[in-house]
Amino acid sequence: MSTGLFTHESCYRHLTGPMSPESPERITAIEERLVASGLEGAFKRTQTNRQARQEDLLRAHDQEYVDHVISLIPHTEGELVHISEDTVVSEKSLEAALESAGCVLEAVDQVADGRLTNAFCCVRPPGHHAHHAKAEGFCIFNNVAIAALYARDVLKLKRIAVLDIDAHHGDGTEDILGGETGIEFFSLFEKDIFPYPSEDTEQANVHKSVLKAGDRGEAACEIIRSDWEPKLREFSPELIFISAGFDAHMSDTMSGLDFTDLDYAHITRIIDDIARNVCDEKIVSVLEGGYEPRSLSRAVVAHIRTLAHL
Ligand SMILES: [Zn+2]
Repeated sequence: MSTGLFTHESCYRHLTGPMSPESPERITAIEERLVASGLEGAFKRTQTNRQARQEDLLRAHDQEYVDHVISLIPHTEGELVHISEDTVVSEKSLEAALESAGCVLEAVDQVADGRLTNAFCCVRPPGHHAHHAKAEGFCIFNNVAIAALYARDVLKLKRIAVLDIDAHHGDGTEDILGGETGIEFFSLFEKDIFPYPSEDTEQANVHKSVLKAGDRGEAACEIIRSDWEPKLREFSPELIFISAGFDAHMSDTMSGLDFTDLDYAHITRIIDDIARNVCDEKIVSVLEGGYEPRSLSRAVVAHIRTLAHL
């Protein structure tokens, strides 16, 4: 049993301005909490500067969109540019976005070939709102979708599952992976909040589960056990991705959900149990949302502790 932690230095250099809740302080808080928890040493840390290549991006994104993002990156220190209403880039953002996706690709390589049992990618910018040809919700490139398509097309895995537990629907992931062969996408999310998705699914490989404001973690556990688990057992994925958002935490004002630190341990345990039955626990978990640094850091530690069976 070995758990990897993947991160990159440019996490701290993707600056988004004082108004954005998606800030470098999120990563600082997680790193400080990991040190305070005494968990350092219990997992294999990989600080990588691997960047997603053009061909990796283009499995998930439109060439014009990639070129557009690159053209909008400012070359002046401190300058901020909006690439969507709520997505800001600065001088080092391209590097950070490429390295976020690169971390996930590296984690996939090491989990797929058995060097690691599972992995958590502590990265920003997040990815699950990034569409095929559109930035949204603090997301530039869709880290999980890029890695899922890499696992299928380059590593030749035949069955891959993506489980999105962020409070917000992974609409970008749905846009990119909907209809893709060999990939099943499951998403639970709070009803009637950003990105205001329909509850219906147009693609047979997209599975949406709706929570309502005030729901606690047990509602998510019930969805995963009753709805997702039978489908996952039947599908029998070779690799499971978690789009791990922590903004359903009761202390996080970005959603009306009321999850606790312990709920994140329970949710992780249920997914890990499913993974043990279908794919030798091969999980690559990737940070998405979570904007209240203290609860984010505690929930991430609970998640990693559970992944590592500590
Ligand atoms: Zn979110």
